[in-house]
Amino acid sequence: MSKAKTAAALRKLAELYRRMDAAYAKSAAILELSCSGCADSCCETVFRHHTYVEWAGLWAGLTALPGPQLDAVREAAGDWVRRHQNPVLPGVRPRVPCPLCEESPEGLRCGLYHMRPMVCRLHGVPNVLLRPGRGTAAFPGCDRAQALGKTCEPALLDRTPLLTELARLEMDLVGRERMGKLPRVDLTIAEMILLGPPKI
Ligand code: SF4
Ligand code: SF4
Repeated sequence: MSKAKTAAALRKLAELYRRMDAAYAKSAAILELSCSGCADSCCETVFRHHTYVEWAGLWAGLTALPGPQLDAVREAAGDWVRRHQNPVLPGVRPRVPCPLCEESPEGLRCGLYHMRPMVCRLHGVPNVLLRPGRGTAAFPGCDRAQALGKTCEPALLDRTPLLTELARLEMDLVGRERMGKLPRVDLTIAEMILLGPPKI
């Protein structure tokens, strides 16, 4: 993969991330949803990510970190995976902060906020996804959003155009001819850290 092609895809990804943030902010404002003081940190949720382009974006952010900080992130990723592979209570998924989490006076915060993937950006507000030939999938939003009891129609974020654009960027990066031939991406943040940048 040429550096120029990767850089072009990542520039478009940054633009798409801005659109996601704007869509999220609009829905959150309608709901009056704020993450401030939330004890149910969704950064302890096991999110999975599915594109090479976001994996490459994550690594663009990671490689810009100072060496000791990247070492600490790698160590946290190893710890995260070990704790999920060996839960203290068998069958009970442990709550372990994402390896990119940092402590702050307000609680956990993302240490790579500008390159956090789509799932992290859109989690929280209720949203819908129109799947061609398979109907509409609806997601109710996080517990706090649901507790606000205002999951009214205008607050629904439509993921469809955002996901469509992400799929287009994936094709730009990977190449139409190799789409579907590379191993499917189905990774947590910790796994993407431990595996290193995607080999495409
Ligand atoms: S998105 Fe919801 S669960 Fe996550 S920190 Fe914000 S309010 Fe809490
Ligand atoms: S990447 Fe950032 S926002 Fe996403 S789970 Fe990890 S710390 Fe939270």
